[in-house]
Amino acid sequence: MARINPHYKELRGSYLFSEIARRRAAFQKEHPEADIISLGIGDVTRPLPEAAAAAMRAAVDELTREETFRGYGPEQGYDFLREAIARHDYRDRGIDVRPEEVFVSDGSKCDVGNIQEIFSQDAVVAVQDPVYPVYVDSNVMAGRAGAYDRETNRYRNIVYLTCSRENGFKPSLPGRKVDLIYLCYPNNPTGVTLTRDELKRWVDYAKENGSIILYDSAYEAFIREDGVPHSIYEIEGAREVAIEFRSFSKTAGFTGVRCAYTVVPRDLKAKDDEGGDVVVADLWNRRHTTKFNGVSYVTQRGAAALYTPEGKAQIAALVDYYMANAQLIREGLRAAGIEACGGVNAPYIWLKTPDGYDSWAFFDKLLREAHIVGTPGVGFGQAGEGYFRLSAFGSRENTERAVERIAKLKW
Ligand code: PLP
Repeated sequence: MARINPHYKELRGSYLFSEIARRRAAFQKEHPEADIISLGIGDVTRPLPEAAAAAMRAAVDELTREETFRGYGPEQGYDFLREAIARHDYRDRGIDVRPEEVFVSDGSKCDVGNIQEIFSQDAVVAVQDPVYPVYVDSNVMAGRAGAYDRETNRYRNIVYLTCSRENGFKPSLPGRKVDLIYLCYPNNPTGVTLTRDELKRWVDYAKENGSIILYDSAYEAFIREDGVPHSIYEIEGAREVAIEFRSFSKTAGFTGVRCAYTVVPRDLKAKDDEGGDVVVADLWNRRHTTKFNGVSYVTQRGAAALYTPEGKAQIAALVDYYMANAQLIREGLRAAGIEACGGVNAPYIWLKTPDGYDSWAFFDKLLREAHIVGTPGVGFGQAGEGYFRLSAFGSRENTERAVERIAKLKW
């Protein structure tokens, strides 16, 4: 009889979003007339930028003609897209990233989930808490997380970097030596960013300790303030210690189209069992070419069009739209006397639940009394207990209505 990978049994159920859906459905059943607004999940609502849509239509036409038909493309992505990324997202900003260091994929979720498999089984992993859950779960599946401790609600072998109100949701350096450090900035769920000096401390730590930083920058396009690094490679020495992940999902309405990329600099090395240096990009290339057959030509043409002047203007308008929602939510919460952060350089607002409410009690109150669905902070890690995430990805109308409803709540 085939046996399963035993580490899958250590996974916590995908409790968060199924529980949200369950509570929402139960409430809707009791109150069919309730007009529920969702500011919960991280999916976008605005349609595709026209520049991308037009490029994709043209690409489909190319594929319908014998002379221009294309089958499999390069697994790492077409040169036209890798070059556009390296030039517009990096070189034009004075950052040294070369096209051959860019690996195009069908999503950052896959990339941040898969990256761990090129590292050793006994690598010590550090993650922020709270954070996007894929980092922990992918390491649980790989058997690196150890047993789940029901008292602390944490895995024994993971080093958690607690992000709390006390440290401004910016974690301290690990108290012990770690091999892999997942950093997510702008952060999901807290919306917090690091300054250049703060990020430099992580790069310096990684250099001193031989660690590798896995820098998830899926929300880079939402950075508004000066002084916030857009890429970890703005920090000197980061090419030797960091891998960066970016996605077109939130920036360009590509959550359904699917396209993202990962930068693995040639300067990044890790040790093999004999103590020799291995170029990490070669391993990622090997993995990518073995297990992935490339993003569709149509999609890559759409992504490349986002770097044209029209594409850039349309993306800027999309980001402005969502960030105006974020501002409405932040101001609405402040007016209601609720403490919150985020929403300035990120599309998420992280609020402290009022006294007497844990994350789920707040969820229920918001659902029952304001007919709003959000995301309980505890779903992103134990340190998220007592917090709650609202997303700016709704429509303007729904965001305004949600804010009006929150204003009427009594605590
Ligand atoms: N990384 C973070 C921090 C995210 O919040 C998300 C999506 O919500 C992703 C990665 C996944 O992005 P993609 O749609 O490119 O898979």
